[in-house]
Amino acid sequence: MNSSTVQAAALHLEDCHLCPHHCGPARLSAQGVCRVGQQSYIASEMLHLGEETILRPAHAIFFSGCTATCSFCTAANFAFRPIYGVAVTPQQLAERIRQRQREGARSICFIGGDPAPHIPFILETLDCLGAARQIPAVFNSNFYLSAQALDLLAGAIDLYLPDLKFGKATGPQSCGELLGGMPDYWAVVTGCIEHVWQTGERVMVRHLLMPGHFDCCTRPILHWLAQRQGIAVSLLTQYLAPVHARGSLAALLPAEEIRQARILAAQLKLELVQ
Ligand code: SF4
Ligand SMILES: [Zn+2]
Repeated sequence: MNSSTVQAAALHLEDCHLCPHHCGPARLSAQGVCRVGQQSYIASEMLHLGEETILRPAHAIFFSGCTATCSFCTAANFAFRPIYGVAVTPQQLAERIRQRQREGARSICFIGGDPAPHIPFILETLDCLGAARQIPAVFNSNFYLSAQALDLLAGAIDLYLPDLKFGKATGPQSCGELLGGMPDYWAVVTGCIEHVWQTGERVMVRHLLMPGHFDCCTRPILHWLAQRQGIAVSLLTQYLAPVHARGSLAALLPAEEIRQARILAAQLKLELVQ
C-alpha cells in the first residue's frame, strides 16, 4: 500500500467510478445509486465464527450501503441505509482491527452492504495499520466493480471473496438486473473474477443457492467455475427469505435443489470449501 494509491482512491469520494453505475459527481452529495457519501458508516463489527474455515474467526466489518438492490436482501436495514451505524475514522477502525487481531482474529473481512463504495476508507485503514497487520485482508463483495476499483485493490487485498449470485441472462428481465439491480451483471462480475484469477490472486467464490434459481443461476455459475482451476468455491445453502421477498424467493430453499447443486459440483470436480 502506498500513499499515492490512497490518494487516487480518495478522488472517488468526489467523482465516483468504483462500480459500473459510474455515478461520478453525484457521490459528493450522496446521490449516487448506493447513496454512500463522503463518510463511511459501519453497521457492526465482530469476531465472526460463521465464515469458512480458512477465515475464522474473522474480524467481520459490515459497511452500510450497497451498490446492488437485491430484492431478497437479508441485510436491508443497513445495506439500503448508508448512514446506519457509526461513523469512524480509518485510525479508529485500524485500532479496532489491532484489538481483534490480539483477540485471535485470523482474517479481516471487509463486507457490506458492499465494501466497494468504501474502498477509499478501506485503503486508508490498511495504510494506517501498516506492518501492525499480521492477518490477511479479505474483500467480500458482490464484485460488481469497475476496472478502477480493481486497480486500487491490487496489492492491498490478500484474498478476494466474490459473491457470484446470478446467471448469464442479460436485459431488464435477467436475474442480475431484475432482482439485483445490476445491469450487465454476468459480464461485469465474471469479468472481475476472471481478472483477479488471471493475475494470480487468491480467490474464493461464494454462491448462495436461491429457491427456484437452479437452472437460471446455479447451473451456469457452477459450469463457469469448473473451467477456472484454483478458484475455491463455497456453496451457501442457508437461504432464508426475508419478509419482503416475493415469488419463488419467498419460499424455503428446497432440499432437492441443494442436492442437485451438490451433485453437479461433484460431477464438475469443483474444489468446495466448508
Ligand atoms: S460506489 Fe458505485 S453506486 Fe456508489 S457512488 Fe460510486 S459508482 Fe455510484
Ligand atoms: Zn436466477
